[in-house]
Amino acid sequence: MTTVGEIARFLESIAPLAYQEDYDNAGLLTGAPEKQVSAVLVCLDATEAVIDEAIERGCNLVVTHHPILFKAIKKLTGATHVERALIKAIKNDVAIYVIHTNLDNVYYNGVNQQIADKLGLQDTRILQPSAALFSLVVTLPASQRENLCTQLTTLGAEAGTISPVQLPEATQQAFVQITFKVPGGLKHAVLEALRQNNALEIADYSLHLLDHKDVTVGAGMIGYLPTPITGQTFLQMVKDSMAAPCVRYTAIPDKPIQKVAFCGGSGSFLLPEAIRQGADVFLSSDFKYHQFFDATDQVFIADIGHFESEQYTTPLLADLLSKKFTNFAVHCVKTITNPVNYFF
Ligand SMILES: [Zn+2]
Repeated sequence: MTTVGEIARFLESIAPLAYQEDYDNAGLLTGAPEKQVSAVLVCLDATEAVIDEAIERGCNLVVTHHPILFKAIKKLTGATHVERALIKAIKNDVAIYVIHTNLDNVYYNGVNQQIADKLGLQDTRILQPSAALFSLVVTLPASQRENLCTQLTTLGAEAGTISPVQLPEATQQAFVQITFKVPGGLKHAVLEALRQNNALEIADYSLHLLDHKDVTVGAGMIGYLPTPITGQTFLQMVKDSMAAPCVRYTAIPDKPIQKVAFCGGSGSFLLPEAIRQGADVFLSSDFKYHQFFDATDQVFIADIGHFESEQYTTPLLADLLSKKFTNFAVHCVKTITNPVNYFF
């Protein structure tokens, strides 16, 4: 038998939790890690209807892309759809596991690789790599040196030079400055550990970017179509291969399209990066009115809708799970959770 925790560990070997964005809430939301899994239901949104489907199909684990829960909740009365889904999951012993921006941010087996495959893009790379290497310099009393080093190296940081410093305001105590190398994916965990540790008397710390060498983690992707095509043909191709009922777009450019920047989900924050890298088109979702203006003469925008851009994440996860585990069934959700409808 396989436990919820074992499945979580497997998914985190593909998309480590440290790669999620600050605002995110990936990981196990409900249920115990030691619980044995009967069957898994994979979806984009763990809505109440999806929990119903899980119960009906005998799945006691729901693996979802979006976390239904982003912030701490102080009441659980069933007043909102989020609370109702959580209550139903807990009452019926259904665990909910979230693999969200950590899956968006990985190059291999991530959300964007699915889009690249669907569109037949080549020579893809991460549009905005985030797993850069940082240098962290911490100043603290010399007596606390080992304590700090143990803590940060346990998290994955690498301790470097240690040098004595003279602080003008502290004549009684000897202080040292310690330099650590911190991989981008661990940045938040390391800073959090510094901020929350009251036992250490940290006088000062600073973080500097060292380089952008690790290009396998980050937001969005950019790649090339095998041959240049017209804007009109690109729109039709996207509509067909991404099963998008409609595409919103800016004025079709005169020049052909070959260099494609793209991002599953709400990727409009990457618009400046797509422009900076000279993409012919930026394909994503949730663009705002003014962003269509911002793109004018700089990049062609194609917006296919949030759900449409991420819908292939469900079969991707189901496929990864069923290849790894053969002792339980893995189902793709049947419930359509897209809250957006189109009227033609
Ligand atoms: Zn999304």
